[in-house]
Amino acid sequence: MKIPDIVIAVDGYSSTGKSSFAKLLAKELGFLYLDSGALYRAVTLFAQNKGLIRMNNTVSGMFRKELDSLDVSFDREGRTCMDSVVVENQIRTMTVSSQVSPVAALPYVREFVDRRLHEMAKGGRVVMDGRDIGTTVFPDAGLKIFMTASFEARAGRRFKELEAKGLNVDIEEVKKNL
Ligand code: C5P
Repeated sequence: MKIPDIVIAVDGYSSTGKSSFAKLLAKELGFLYLDSGALYRAVTLFAQNKGLIRMNNTVSGMFRKELDSLDVSFDREGRTCMDSVVVENQIRTMTVSSQVSPVAALPYVREFVDRRLHEMAKGGRVVMDGRDIGTTVFPDAGLKIFMTASFEARAGRRFKELEAKGLNVDIEEVKKNL
């Protein structure tokens, strides 16, 4: 069956397997997987490299202007690149993970990421996932998928993810967080 050159947006509740599903779908269809979280991570790494994140996790006002010079993209293997250099490992460190949230909350950062996602999705044939992909970023996507799962399945998934990261977690605490 010939699949049209559409944008596929995968939205849904946390810990329902959005990324795993989106990656598999992209692979199956021969589409490019666009990882919005990776873009937020790259923006954070960029700010850190420029020394623009303060000790209390606030970001210098200078960053807004600096962001224009950030060249971030994905290669054919889906790896994140900055200035065409693969930074896949650097964006997954604890240093980046611990500061990505406040950076991703900045409105101009969200605008930057949305703009890049739109540029990358121009010709279609992409699969994207994220909490606001189908609602805010691509409300007109050719196919929108919203993922749900039972509370127990989501808690179990999250528990295993944290355990795999070597964290000592309590299932009741995980349920409370969900
Ligand atoms: O999915 P991942 O953990 O790589 O995302 C990193 C961070 O980027 C999230 O913790 C969140 O703060 C932010 N993010 C976001 N909106 C998205 C995807 C990620 O704010 N659509």
